[in-house]
Amino acid sequence: MFMKENNKGNTRIFFDGDTSLIKDKIVSIIGYGNQGRAQAYALRSNGINVIIGNIKDENYSRAIKDGYKVYSIEEASNKADIILLLIPDEVAPKVFYEKIEPKIKEKKHVILDFASGYNITYGFIKPLPNSDIIMVAPRMIGEGILNLLKEGKGYPVLLGVAQDISGKAWDYTLAIAKGIGAFLPGGIGIKSSFEEETLLDLFTEHVIAPMILFSIKVAYEILTKEYGASPEATLLELYASGEWIEVHKVIYKMGLFEQLVVHSRTSQYGQLSRGQKIISEEIKNMMRKAIQEILDGSFAKEWTIEQQLNYPIFNRLWINIRESDLVKEENKLYRILKRK
Ligand code: NDP
Repeated sequence: MFMKENNKGNTRIFFDGDTSLIKDKIVSIIGYGNQGRAQAYALRSNGINVIIGNIKDENYSRAIKDGYKVYSIEEASNKADIILLLIPDEVAPKVFYEKIEPKIKEKKHVILDFASGYNITYGFIKPLPNSDIIMVAPRMIGEGILNLLKEGKGYPVLLGVAQDISGKAWDYTLAIAKGIGAFLPGGIGIKSSFEEETLLDLFTEHVIAPMILFSIKVAYEILTKEYGASPEATLLELYASGEWIEVHKVIYKMGLFEQLVVHSRTSQYGQLSRGQKIISEEIKNMMRKAIQEILDGSFAKEWTIEQQLNYPIFNRLWINIRESDLVKEENKLYRILKRK
């Protein structure tokens, strides 16, 4: 199911699209949240006819204040030639089947754009026969997109086509990527697929991010409890100083390992000599297991059940973390630092 195209090594890279293809179309942004607000702003700045569909709440009012024509999700879907489905992945299937599908199923042709591969990959949303199903998945948070747009800069997007009814689905994908500002200088489009995006996105969430967070948590406990380091000094050293923000900026500019040259030689030697040994065969196997749970759908199944049961494990995990020593000491430190 996964990696259909890219396994063959034919990855393609894009720097442009033709927005004239979508100039005479109504683009309905469904969900005026993080991505919705940023993508609507970019499309409108590029002369595209954007309308918003949102439930009647703060974001609905915000969209009106930002100068858009705002409708219910049903009405915005009814008016749409192109729908950008920018609501959280876990609510998208219900919203799609209850509010969007009834309004678009009779149309001759509609373009349905996703910002993530999840719901198509796992079949939670099944493509209608009249729809081009495309994906323009920013590798950037909405706020970041807005900031980059103000500086005239682009950002990376993963692109995919799951169903091409019009024969022009890739052209529409590139047009939307251009319309949302991805191809401004510094930006890039990578030909991907819904499945690959899902794999990479979930892998980062299941392995890379938690390895960072939980290795810091364990390190904090060992350093403070077993070796008597003070909570404040430990938290500042491990992450709270903000030094990592600067390191990340240098990684962005120079590369993952080349950034080491801005550290002392002692640090370089320590990182290079010890780093190799940290990733044991056990950790590699844990990575492979995480990939397996993504590929065989067991994570998606577990998460769907969790939602149906009203988040019992999710809530308990949050309680446990908030009761941990690290979070308690962090709260104290952040209050002293006036961050909270
Ligand atoms: P948000 O959490 O910001 O929510 C977006 C919108 O969804 C809000 O306007 C919200 O309405 C609406 N919404 C939430 N629940 C419902 C519901 N039950 N019925 C109708 N509308 C609802 O989403 P994001 O912008 O973070 O994510 C949108 C898509 O973009 C997802 O597919 C995500 O995977 C993808 N993505 C997100 C990135 C990010 O940085 N956040 C990065 C790349 C891709 P309201 O708040 O007004 O109630």
